[in-house]
Amino acid sequence: MDISKRVEELAIDLTNILSVVDTKDENNMAERIYEFFGEMDYFKGNPDNLKYVDVINDEVGRKSTLATIKGKKGNSDKTVILIGHIDTVGIDDYGDLKEYANKPLELIEKLKEVVISKEAREDLNSGDYLFGRGIFDMKCGVAIIMAIMEELAKNVEQLEGNVIFAAVCDEEGNSGGMLSVVPELVKLKQSEGYDYLAIIDTDYSAPRYVGDENRYVYIGTVGKLMPSFYIVGKETHVGEPYKGLDPNQIASNITEEFNLNMEYCDVAEEEVSLPPITLRQQDLKEEYSVQISKTSYIYFNYATHISTPDEVMKRMISGANKAFQKTINHLNSQYKTYCSMSDYPYSELPWKARVITYEELYKKVKEEKGEKLDSIISDLSNEMLKDDNIDERVFALKLVEQVHKMWSDKEPVVIAYFSPPYYPHIYVEGKEEKEKNLLEAVDKAIKTTDTEFDIVNKKFYPYISDLSYAAAPKENFVIEALKENMPGFGKRYNLPLKEMQELNLPVVNIGPFGKDAHKFTERVEKNYSFNVLPKMVYNTIFNLLK
Ligand SMILES: [Zn+2]
Repeated sequence: MDISKRVEELAIDLTNILSVVDTKDENNMAERIYEFFGEMDYFKGNPDNLKYVDVINDEVGRKSTLATIKGKKGNSDKTVILIGHIDTVGIDDYGDLKEYANKPLELIEKLKEVVISKEAREDLNSGDYLFGRGIFDMKCGVAIIMAIMEELAKNVEQLEGNVIFAAVCDEEGNSGGMLSVVPELVKLKQSEGYDYLAIIDTDYSAPRYVGDENRYVYIGTVGKLMPSFYIVGKETHVGEPYKGLDPNQIASNITEEFNLNMEYCDVAEEEVSLPPITLRQQDLKEEYSVQISKTSYIYFNYATHISTPDEVMKRMISGANKAFQKTINHLNSQYKTYCSMSDYPYSELPWKARVITYEELYKKVKEEKGEKLDSIISDLSNEMLKDDNIDERVFALKLVEQVHKMWSDKEPVVIAYFSPPYYPHIYVEGKEEKEKNLLEAVDKAIKTTDTEFDIVNKKFYPYISDLSYAAAPKENFVIEALKENMPGFGKRYNLPLKEMQELNLPVVNIGPFGKDAHKFTERVEKNYSFNVLPKMVYNTIFNLLK
């Protein structure tokens, strides 16, 4: 099989179609792919196997494309799912070269005239790379799947089992494509009796450190949670600072506790996750005044390999408690010094460290207010739903704020909760049959693919992706810990958790090699990506179906 030429041609063709996330242009890709399959004899004879899947409740009106090839050899229900995202990030980073961002053949000439990094310059001059928005992330990957599907459609008599390709939109945004395709896949499983084996993604794969020449295959994927803290201090005039408790100071200590702290990382099979890092820390006082702020909030990005939401919540509570106590100790010691220097009598400050979950807060207020609480939450949610400008994080925050406001207890407290989004990690341990089969299929595909490259097999695709939605934690108490602590879950932000649990598939990313995804020097390396990778993906599919 020699499809490398075809892959290159398709990768350039797809890059030519602008499909920036959150724009109607994404549909141009969905339609191009639909057309591509629609022209094949197989799909002419089986038009039902090609369809669009609309994004649920999408303002932009976007859609994904689903193409299924059913093998005619034997009578196998075994089915492999391939996914690839059709959107890209924006093109403003190209500046003056914006009009060439989607024209790889012209861009390569234009880039010779501008300042780029030494490494990018070397790659440019080597002739081994193609540049362009999305060519690496991930139109090359989509091209690989399309070229493979084209081969399969021609040889459907020899294909034992089925292959489904979901070309999904909105991956760079809110995963609207994948999240609407997941329920569709569950439906197809029931109506067609498919026995799903695994999901293969061909998203980009970059060097892990400077000078890294390895090529990576990732069986499994990283997950992500957003630990958040709503911090209630005690207001005071700056003239009497020790009479108050500054929520900004507690917030800073919480940041100090979690930020880039390796103690909060997950290690699984010697692969360590990235440490937490703040994505926001701010107080909630709107005006300038000499009264200190009453409340503040923080949220973190928290990567997971094995930790579930309930486990992360436990760590959030104990870490925030530690930070709160540290703040109080510090204040007491400073206050003591102030008193002794001023010759005032010292008595210990009244603050007590306390951190509770949103779930606990809700229960306490519910006891006090009864049904009134739910109707106020629901009114506020509906009010906020009317305003598209309210960010999902702010949506959650406003609900915490509201529930806390209704509580009779006005003493300082930290409320721990989760902000959206949530991406489950998928750890392919090899304990279950499907996991074992995928591990073996990939291993064999790597060994039997003839190449001079060092291909390294890893466990967690390190870039947050749609692969996360192939499964969800099985235990209901884990799901509850998430839902009960994510204010407004199911309103603005939603996940098809039931369908994800039902799908429950191991995943692998076998992606092209390149550099600088999401930068204007984004580029894909041709030799590995066009010559080696398609064979490896193809072999993995066949090893699985066997
Ligand atoms: Zn991507």
